[in-house]
Amino acid sequence: MSELKLVFDEPKQRKKAPSHLADLTIEERLERARDLGIPAFRVNQIATHYFTHYNDDPMSWSDFPKSLREVVKSEFLPTLITLVRSITCDNGLTRKDLWRLHDGVLVESVLMRYPERTTVCISSQAGCGMNCPFCATGQAGLTRNLTAGEITAQLVAAAKACADGELPGGPTRLSNVVYMGMGEPLANYNAVMRSVRNIVTPKPDGLEIGARSITISTVGLVNGIEKLTQEGLQVRLAVSLHTPDDELRDSLVPINSRWKVGEVLAAADRYADKTGRRYSIEYALIRDINDQAFRADLLGKLLKNRHAHVNLIPLNPTPGSKWTASRKEDEREFLRILENYGVPVTVRDTRGREIDGACGQLAAASTDLIGESSI
Ligand code: SAH
Repeated sequence: MSELKLVFDEPKQRKKAPSHLADLTIEERLERARDLGIPAFRVNQIATHYFTHYNDDPMSWSDFPKSLREVVKSEFLPTLITLVRSITCDNGLTRKDLWRLHDGVLVESVLMRYPERTTVCISSQAGCGMNCPFCATGQAGLTRNLTAGEITAQLVAAAKACADGELPGGPTRLSNVVYMGMGEPLANYNAVMRSVRNIVTPKPDGLEIGARSITISTVGLVNGIEKLTQEGLQVRLAVSLHTPDDELRDSLVPINSRWKVGEVLAAADRYADKTGRRYSIEYALIRDINDQAFRADLLGKLLKNRHAHVNLIPLNPTPGSKWTASRKEDEREFLRILENYGVPVTVRDTRGREIDGACGQLAAASTDLIGESSI
């Protein structure tokens, strides 16, 4: 257990991130405005500028009294994330942004435009404490949790990039959000849920993106899945299973020593029962490690009567790892076996792979950046 405590304990916060509109519930926003002597209707205006126009610079708001602009900036809209660098690939349709937080900590988000949707993949923690050996983020451990404001700021930046037509194809709407960047979202539960509320809350108080368009991906923290089940939200749950057997999972996903495959799937089943939504099983196919036909068979047996969909992810290479993606023929066979069991299965595309922006590749290493000023 002592080992687990280490996993969950957040390292001492240096300096707290300044409090932001996006950290507060609607009631708290009103309360803060009252304390500052700002009329309640101004809170609507502030929220509209932020969540509808993606503008957090009160100095540019012509409909807002000059006398209040400074206090609103410092008390409601402090700058939480600063763009350090963007890298694109797929002809600009995939873009990885590197952000510096107020204390110098770095995180990444990835924006991906598809013909029918635009998805942002956001970070919920700087680093990660889950220590999965095939994932780049886990290798340096957890630096700290992000605040709801810091998570939301990545979303607002993505929504703004879409609206401003920064991706090829012209202006568009941010349609989907996946919590699949750096970090374990359910290990930073409250901040993540507050950011989810910011996404689903109708305008002007939130981004008004449907809960069904949000995916929360977890290593399988059963206590977190249970809490999420109680939220009454239609968010899609993704479970990073990676193997059907506890023996291998104990090493691929170390938290498996706390919650076994059976317990994780039982919690996901309860989530599906409550929400009526099928959950996803994430399975990174690693050559000769978890891609054997017998494991596909085991997985098929385990999932055939469940409300689950399998997402096979060809392993994305991470620096220094001896592991690599499965052979194409093994991937095909794995897929075929699952299909034979009637389990819905797809192979995830590897968008962003060559800019280290695909699943499990985000690791905003400090070495990335020495001497870097802006993009
Ligand atoms: N901590 C959460 C979310 C972050 S990662 C979780 O584990 O679910 C999002 C997905 O990418 C997870 O399914 C994760 O297991 C997977 N992943 C991690 N490293 C990977 C790699 N090198 N190649 C492919 N997928 C990887």
